[in-house]
Amino acid sequence: MKHIAVIGSGSMGNGIAHVFAQTGHSVLLIDVSETALQKALATIEKNLGRQLEKGAITEEQKNIALQNIKTTTEYGAELANCDLVVEAATENPEIKFSIFRKLDEICKPEAILASNTSSISITKIAAQTKRPSQVIGMHFMNPVPVMKLVEVIRGYATTDDVCSRIMEKSKELGKIPVEVNDYPGFVANKILMPMINEAIITLHEGVAGVEEIDTVMKLGMAHPMGPLQLADFIGLDVCLAILKVLQEGFGNPKYAPCPLLVNMVTAGKLGAKTGEGFYTYTPGSKELKVAPFFSK
Ligand code: NAD
Repeated sequence: MKHIAVIGSGSMGNGIAHVFAQTGHSVLLIDVSETALQKALATIEKNLGRQLEKGAITEEQKNIALQNIKTTTEYGAELANCDLVVEAATENPEIKFSIFRKLDEICKPEAILASNTSSISITKIAAQTKRPSQVIGMHFMNPVPVMKLVEVIRGYATTDDVCSRIMEKSKELGKIPVEVNDYPGFVANKILMPMINEAIITLHEGVAGVEEIDTVMKLGMAHPMGPLQLADFIGLDVCLAILKVLQEGFGNPKYAPCPLLVNMVTAGKLGAKTGEGFYTYTPGSKELKVAPFFSK
């Protein structure tokens, strides 16, 4: 599996393209937005530059990684040459279903189709294709070049062979894969999202402010980042989409998204990627300031 396609070049897609390109794979990076593709290439170049500064890679390795990536807005014939596709498009079931129907038509029969979805059923995604046994979840963590974990999700029909090949491929990328079963949110988000939602409810109820909640969880529970900052980093739209999948998938009201989260997404305050969520973000600055809406 040397020819890889990555679908979606947002926060996750650029990182996934980065790690494959850096480990000697040719990467076809596809997005519906040319602007997103250009932004992704700039991010990859910046992140490779950081690795170079730290001495983790050489100038030549940086250049080879960049040369390994080709971008396009077309689902064209080049996809037919890919051995593995990792889909990292917007967390919306209909968007993912339509992508997988398209991939199934274009990709060669032996190609493995993986999704980086945070919560959507792999079995449902696989059912859009005529090759459900070759569909699997390959859930990278953000930021992909840094985080070691890959949650490998077996759909109902995924074969042992496909699963073990994806476990091996993840190790080849320098990651540590963990195999889990296909239930809403899998393991990572079944546990993480209720905690983030509870932090937002705690803020909404006025129990404490943004910094206080994050400080309690950082200092008290040894979390490297507080849950509100983490939500901003993941993207509040992504958090909301995952909570809706958990709520619908388990039919349990405990997963109902906090109305404050719904309001923030409706207002376009999606966290770091839009410059404001619970905190405000200025490009090039690491300073973390509580957003005006939550300032005392
Ligand atoms: P994002 O909004 O940053 O990027 C999504 C990209 O998909 C956008 O560039 C968009 O233009 C593109 N896209 C939309 N429809 C498309 C299509 N039909 N074909 C090709 N590209 C299309 O989202 P993200 O945070 O990168 O999340 C992507 C996936 O990764 C989601 O499934 C999400 O749940 C999952 N994920 C996200 C995180 C996180 O921390 N953000 C972590 C793990 C997994």
